[in-house]
Amino acid sequence: MNDVLSIVVPCFNEQESIPLFFEAVERVRLQLPLTFEYIFVDDGSHDQTLAELRALASAHADVHYLSFSRNFGKEAALYAGLSHAHGDYVTVMDVDLQDPPELLVKMYQKIQAPEIDCVGTRRVTRTGEPKIRTFFAKLFYKIINRIGQTEMVDGARDFRLMTRPMLDAILELKEVNRFSKGLFTWVGFNMVYLEYENRERVAGTTSWSFWKLFAYSIDGIVNFSDAPLNIASFVGAFSCVASAIAMLIIIFRTIFYGDPTSGWPSLVCIFLFIGGIQLLCLGIIGKYIGKIFTETKKRPIYVVRETDQSKNK
Ligand code: UDP
Ligand code: MG
Repeated sequence: MNDVLSIVVPCFNEQESIPLFFEAVERVRLQLPLTFEYIFVDDGSHDQTLAELRALASAHADVHYLSFSRNFGKEAALYAGLSHAHGDYVTVMDVDLQDPPELLVKMYQKIQAPEIDCVGTRRVTRTGEPKIRTFFAKLFYKIINRIGQTEMVDGARDFRLMTRPMLDAILELKEVNRFSKGLFTWVGFNMVYLEYENRERVAGTTSWSFWKLFAYSIDGIVNFSDAPLNIASFVGAFSCVASAIAMLIIIFRTIFYGDPTSGWPSLVCIFLFIGGIQLLCLGIIGKYIGKIFTETKKRPIYVVRETDQSKNK
């Protein structure tokens, strides 16, 4: 019996890409000694994505799908797909063909080595992406790798081939605030990266606006680093010491030189400055408390409205 490869594919408004994706991956199947199992996750799409998936699943026995009751985000879709995977190996792929399916052959060859548990992919170029996005992406990786406890590889994609033990370890992490790039690294195991040139998506448009990505990167930092809290404490301590010194200087000056009351504008500036720092620090703490709040509610990570299994019943 062949080993089974589960292919997890999150889809959000991807009606045009799905048939193209399926066709491209099927072509690669011939080069691999593996049985395929597709798990498409419709992340609350508003277009014909679900209809496409239904049609695909009824035509091919190895295609399965889950459809969410609303848009829960790519991270939730990934988790849902991974928890429904039965394979000995599992891979995560974007449906827009930005993750080249032909790399699977090389990834499979690499993962045959007993010391390797995961073969990831890394974009070495970002052509076709707005310059400003590239700049901030690079900045994000610089910051997170300096202050975070978990290393994140610049350009690493979610597209990766994993062994079952590694997948099981990832599924053990049941946090609601998921940042997969970090989770994949956090579980450890031996990882190697294949490098490739960036590709543009085959159809449709990206669903990540600049602000969505910005919020996502803040999530990444808050989920994998407590450095912002340390910075807040440091800034607080620093302004405390600085104002103590300033106070001493003023007392000294008043006693020895008789200082008339002057300079209220500078005083107002200092008030505003300190007030600003306090609000900033409160904001940072608030971010972490917000995360704790969502974690303690223990709400499910996703809600399924329909799957091919439920339809067969
Ligand atoms: N996606 C998803 N839910 C979302 C947003 C995106 O499942 O809320 C899927 C999308 O269908 C695609 C993958 O995640 O398969 C990557 O999204 P996209 O191509 O828009 O991101 P980009 O490649 O531009 O980073
Ligand atoms: Mg894409």
